[in-house]
Amino acid sequence: MIVAIDGPAGSGKGTIASVLSKKLNLVNIDTGATYRCVALKALRNNLNIEDKEKIIELSNNIDIKFDLNNNVYLDGEDVTKEIRSKEVTNIVSPISSIVEVRKNMVDLQRRLGNSNNVVMEGRDITTVVFPNADYKFYLDATLEERAKRRFKEYQEKQIDMSYDEIYENIKNRDYNDSHKEVGSLMRTDDQHYIDSTNLTIDEVTNEFIKIIEGDKNES
Ligand code: C5P
Repeated sequence: MIVAIDGPAGSGKGTIASVLSKKLNLVNIDTGATYRCVALKALRNNLNIEDKEKIIELSNNIDIKFDLNNNVYLDGEDVTKEIRSKEVTNIVSPISSIVEVRKNMVDLQRRLGNSNNVVMEGRDITTVVFPNADYKFYLDATLEERAKRRFKEYQEKQIDMSYDEIYENIKNRDYNDSHKEVGSLMRTDDQHYIDSTNLTIDEVTNEFIKIIEGDKNES
């Protein structure tokens, strides 16, 4: 079974995917983390966004793994916390715009999805990675609400970014993520659209479960 969730940064995809994975016994795949690993590796190799060919080469030979607790491993090293740093967050969107990088990450995501029952979240899961997923969702919220949530999360994780920095970063990523040559964030008629702006985590989860369980009962 594949549950695919797309939506902009801070819409709650990660939180909901984690809750659903436990409730429905699915492996949770955070596809943004795969692009963040490429960005981190690029930074560690002193590359910047202009070094396109070198970034592509690096993405051809990268080893990214997830464990059942949502930890992320880059070439064998646990980088769960490091991939959320300000430096990575600032360059991940342009790096994920490189078509060849996307091809490599989509291949990896498909391999992970084909060998497990998964909930997979990102920007192009319902449209490119698994357009035939069993359940397709678009999770949304206003920019202000998303920046507020991310700020709170970063404070809890002791990641040093101000509210204004986060707001600007999300605004820029929104633009970039919806203007990509390949794999743009898009709303389509066959996604279930959920606006989480005024909903609690429990309420959003219930919306998802209602749709998934409802579908099961019908078939
Ligand atoms: O979800 P998260 O904010 O961690 O994703 C980091 C970045 O990776 C996004 O801003 C987006 O540019 C990119 N991304 C993508 N396609 C996905 C998931 C994430 O382009 N499926």
